[in-house]
Amino acid sequence: MMNPGRVEAKARKILDQSGITFAPVDVELVAKTLGVEIKFDDLDDDVSGFLSVDPSRSVAVINENHHPNRQRFTIAHELGHYVLHVEADEGLFIDKKYIVHHRDHRSSLGTIDKEREANLFASSLLMPKAIVQSLLDDFRVDFFDEFETHSLAKRLGVSEQALGFRLARLGYEVGE
Ligand SMILES: [Zn+2]
Repeated sequence: MMNPGRVEAKARKILDQSGITFAPVDVELVAKTLGVEIKFDDLDDDVSGFLSVDPSRSVAVINENHHPNRQRFTIAHELGHYVLHVEADEGLFIDKKYIVHHRDHRSSLGTIDKEREANLFASSLLMPKAIVQSLLDDFRVDFFDEFETHSLAKRLGVSEQALGFRLARLGYEVGE
């Protein structure tokens, strides 16, 4: 697994290059900055999306039937693969629930590391530390109840679950 600080730094750098300083992060603008096309398509329900990269074109295809917050996370996740894992100008990453849920499958251990890195990149991109902290300052609370978590998630355009993981990683305590 790549150093988490390095993954965060990469997300921060791309946000800077895209000129993004507020929430919700315009993830399609980030894609544009990177030169990755975003398309929405009627994919199988167990597929969140996939990233296809070849020398002439990079495109992330996102499941058009999923919730907008999930689509945002999937876009950010595919951009993570693009930034962290694409080598030699080509690659194909298909994101199915299966990959995420079969953590004990030995032959996919390398894949699972990549999935974790792409998820960390996605959460760093959609919930940048500086933006989360400034929103927290607005809330003026140290401990989150359900309502505050809901409002903050809405403001960031992420699921409450994704926000919960992010806040825990950033060292905040979150109530049930
Ligand atoms: Zn993935």
